[in-house]
Amino acid sequence: MSYSLADAATSQVRSFSGRPADRSTLMEMWQGLSAAVVDRVASDWDRTNRLYATKRREHYFSAEFLMGRALLNNLSNLGLTNEAEKIVNSFGQTLSDVLEQEPDAALGNGGLGRLAACFLDSCATLDYPVNGYGILYRYGLFKQLFEDGFQREQPDAWMEEGYPFIVRREEEQRIIHYADMDVRAIPYDMPITGYGTRNVGTLRLWRAEPVEEFDYDAFNSQRFTDAIVEREAVADISRVLYPNDSTFEGKILRVRQQYFFCAASLHDIVANHIAQHEGDLTTLADFNAIQLNDTHPVLAIPELMRILLDEYGWTWEAAWDVVSHTFAYTNHTVLAEALEKWETSIFDRLFPRIMEIVREIDRRFRIDMTERAIDEGTINYMAPVQGNMVHMAWIACYASYSINGVAALHTEIIKRETLRQWHDIWPERFNNKTNGVTPRRWLRQCNPRLSALLDEVTGSDQWVTDLDVLAQFTDSVDESVLQRLIDIKHDNKVDFAQWIKNRQGIEVNPDAIFDVQIKRLHEYKRQLMNAFYILDLYYRLKEDPSLDLPPRVFIFGAKAAPGYVRAKAIIKLINSIGDLVNNDPDIDGRITVVFVENYNVSPAEHIIPAADVSEQISTAGKEASGTSNMKFMMNGALTLGTLDGANVEILDAVGQDNAYIFGATEDELPELRRTYDPRWHYENVPGLKRVLDAMTDGTLDDGGTGDFHDLRLSLLEGSYDPADVYYVLGDFDAYRTARDQMARDYCDRQAWARKTWVNITKSGRFSSDRTIRDYAREVWKLEAAPIDQ
Ligand SMILES: *Cc1c(COP(=O)(O)O)cnc(C)c1O
Repeated sequence: MSYSLADAATSQVRSFSGRPADRSTLMEMWQGLSAAVVDRVASDWDRTNRLYATKRREHYFSAEFLMGRALLNNLSNLGLTNEAEKIVNSFGQTLSDVLEQEPDAALGNGGLGRLAACFLDSCATLDYPVNGYGILYRYGLFKQLFEDGFQREQPDAWMEEGYPFIVRREEEQRIIHYADMDVRAIPYDMPITGYGTRNVGTLRLWRAEPVEEFDYDAFNSQRFTDAIVEREAVADISRVLYPNDSTFEGKILRVRQQYFFCAASLHDIVANHIAQHEGDLTTLADFNAIQLNDTHPVLAIPELMRILLDEYGWTWEAAWDVVSHTFAYTNHTVLAEALEKWETSIFDRLFPRIMEIVREIDRRFRIDMTERAIDEGTINYMAPVQGNMVHMAWIACYASYSINGVAALHTEIIKRETLRQWHDIWPERFNNKTNGVTPRRWLRQCNPRLSALLDEVTGSDQWVTDLDVLAQFTDSVDESVLQRLIDIKHDNKVDFAQWIKNRQGIEVNPDAIFDVQIKRLHEYKRQLMNAFYILDLYYRLKEDPSLDLPPRVFIFGAKAAPGYVRAKAIIKLINSIGDLVNNDPDIDGRITVVFVENYNVSPAEHIIPAADVSEQISTAGKEASGTSNMKFMMNGALTLGTLDGANVEILDAVGQDNAYIFGATEDELPELRRTYDPRWHYENVPGLKRVLDAMTDGTLDDGGTGDFHDLRLSLLEGSYDPADVYYVLGDFDAYRTARDQMARDYCDRQAWARKTWVNITKSGRFSSDRTIRDYAREVWKLEAAPIDQ
């Protein structure tokens, strides 16, 4: 126990490589150092688990955990970064080269999955008895490649070379029953360290394996394929994360996955409760809260009913009483196509008993509503089962004691529109929990220069766990600190320039404005409007080279769901615009477009510290919260955004002078839409016609796919949707004005630096520590439980 990290790491590296440490590969060094870190936390982890088992605890159910890399996070939390640097130096390498070996654990699509990861970090740091439950996908979100500017997808086999941060717990496996198969669920646990605490939380991810050992008889008697097909059908359950966060597909498998991790996790929770409380399940809800991260885990509701009814012989009323005090539901979207609904036939086929229970919930729901004198139309709309569809969000709303939105505006919209009928009946269930991001990963680790300055200005590292302390320093900086901020940003841009040159061979000018939009590709996020601005700027510069605007680097990072044709067309369009402007000698480096391939957590950690401008330009009302907006703010990028999601609260925190807000607001849009004619904008807003026509007149090449033609038509004509549903052309002119103004303001570097300082120091309310404290107090009713008092 008392041997040093150096000894542990050296011996681990040697055992991975079978060679002396200094003759091992960078990958083997990463493996060995990571194993040494797990070794270092093992006993505290065990102590934490045993303490939490006795406490009231919360279980965070999520189909996605976008964890990113683990080694630096753990080193930094444990205060071991400098020691690790020395160890790796003694092997003849640098820590940053070793860290770059690590694959991202990309077990999520985007914001929802990254939120779950930030929450685990905050729960560990604040000593809350919380663990995460999800699926150990063999393949994370697909790896994105560009081929002639088109997105291509490849499997992301992130664990294939071994992953030291996850431990298989063979002895705690569970059996999951489906009508057509039984499956073993094997838990794999990841330790979640916190900053400045010895508590270590747990993320438990389930992997599906066949119940039977390999069937040699079948194999020998020439039924090879039967034996293999059956095993593969089981392995399919935890094979892939669905690369989609807005619509649904692969329905049966997806429902099977959802049930798989909900059932396994509930078995775990019930077994632990029984062991701790002398078999008394009546107190289950006193000791356990389960947060449902969106509707993907909602099958946990009928499954807990099934366990209590069938395995413990409870009455419906008693079971419902416990269930309805256990679950809390987080809504993440107002997009109708993203609210999950499943055919009853899928449930019938996979688990008829669960379908029976859902029907009984539905039957009792209808009686309950009738007794409350709700009219029949409303009851039919709200009912868990509608015709042949099961409505997951409606089950969640009926059974949960808490329903929350993820930003103030979003919560108002779900109360007023998306979930209005439930709010009318149970207003007390509704609450807001504005998202947050962890300042450990998103500031301390990714931006060491700025972190050092914050330590210096504030006199300690207290801000790392109490980000609000920064607000005391908003007004008290002198010119020299502002100059340091300018220098730090410049150095970070130089680092980014080196990183992107190594990665994609592109050269960027660190003296230019770095203007960044990184997030999943979706029409509502309006990467298309950003692209139109760039193309319009290109034409303006061609027309008038004396145009008074500083040089700009426009950075994108985005994956499109593989079946989302229009999103993929937008990627191709941005890459085509990049080809045009990056290679035009007239432009001479005044505009550079960079599309970072395979956007993920670790690229975000390289990009965000170097950003000057944070693009948050969704159609108002559509982005539930956004969290990249918060990461940028913490790192001193200014928001260029609409009044949407958490942008509203960012504006409130920093004031009008320190953010750039434009465009139609959520309450204006319905009226504007009534008379909206995108063609009028196309004809009359200067520059728009030129930009839209470039899509189809041969200026930009979609490789003969017709994609650009369709994209242009979607704005001007519409098809099954009305034309330009996301109001791209409507907001374009206001966007251009704000963005031009921003570029001019940047030239007064001291004034700009002061704005960035306000953003950094006012970012405290966007720490996920604040969010988690609010959940713990208002929803989960948890107390902190430090293992060292
Ligand atoms: C923070 C984050 C997101 C969420 O970005 P939004 O702009 O809020 O949609 C998505 N992907 C990754 C990798 C992230 O780190």
